[in-house]
Amino acid sequence: MKIIADTGKCVGAGQCVLTEPALFDQSEEDGTVIVLNAEPDGDLVEKAREAVHVCPSQALSLED
Ligand code: SF4
Repeated sequence: MKIIADTGKCVGAGQCVLTEPALFDQSEEDGTVIVLNAEPDGDLVEKAREAVHVCPSQALSLED
């Protein structure tokens, strides 16, 4: 599984970072998402799904 982030859609809301700081960070410049670990495993897979779900701008998706 791979996390895809569309920074063009990201509004810098930070919900992904709040959900799992091990997977996501935000740019200090414009607040857009930075994926720290695009291929999570174990417990982080569920956290990645949660982050996709909570993102208000549909900027995150998962690829199998
Ligand atoms: S939750 Fe979505 S909009 Fe907010 S920083 Fe993360 S990817 Fe961007």
